[in-house]
Amino acid sequence: MMRRLAPYQTGLWLAEYVDIRCQLCRVCRSMPHSQILPAHHLRFPNIRQKIAQCLNSGLLCEYCHHSIAWLPKAFEVDIAAGMALSIQAATYYDYPMRQAIRAFKHHEDMTKLPLLLHILRQLPRPHGCHPDNSVIIAMPTTDQRLVKRGFDPVSILAAQLSKHWQIPLWHGIKRIDNTLSQQGLTRAERLRNLDNAFTLVEKPPVKRLLLFDDVATTGASLQALSRALYESTGSLTADQHVSHQYLLSAYALAHGSQS
Ligand SMILES: [Zn+2]
Repeated sequence: MMRRLAPYQTGLWLAEYVDIRCQLCRVCRSMPHSQILPAHHLRFPNIRQKIAQCLNSGLLCEYCHHSIAWLPKAFEVDIAAGMALSIQAATYYDYPMRQAIRAFKHHEDMTKLPLLLHILRQLPRPHGCHPDNSVIIAMPTTDQRLVKRGFDPVSILAAQLSKHWQIPLWHGIKRIDNTLSQQGLTRAERLRNLDNAFTLVEKPPVKRLLLFDDVATTGASLQALSRALYESTGSLTADQHVSHQYLLSAYALAHGSQS
């Protein structure tokens, strides 16, 4: 089957390789890749990375990069007794990320995607994960929400993360709730809202499950997703030392208040 090029891919490609201006301030020259790629990328650059470095280009200038590319401290939510899910976000849900994420999610503004992607790439690939032992699970959306919105912003970001980490996506869990947006709800209301929201349609193919959502506010959605995986498979653990069971960790583009 031929892989369809999503419409946003062209814009992303142009932003990355042709447009040399910063995707945030639009004034300064963007940073070369060599300054933002993690060290291990540079020690073993493949041809594509070499070409990318020659053609230019990062997506943000140095100033903008340093003003928003925080890596907030990971926070934890409970999955079950004695078991916690660690959630690592790439940055905070503040200006200008908040505005960019909202424009992308609610108005399908693809011009914001290069900025989001630049920040997403700051997420370090989890230690020990590779394509044979790990999958990325994007926060599923409901069919109703997909129809209403017309596209699934989380799956677009997850696909980019999958490309960046070189870890496949897995779609074995479905969202079945018809709940309204989580926005404006308290933590308890969010959790109640999410009870029985997910159902597993097949068994995870590997042991390491990397959950992904665009924005983690209280972490309630990721918590509910991890609980659904836990309850369906019965033997999930967030404890790295139990090697024969599933290992769960969660990632988000941004962490912060959605109010
Ligand atoms: Zn800039």
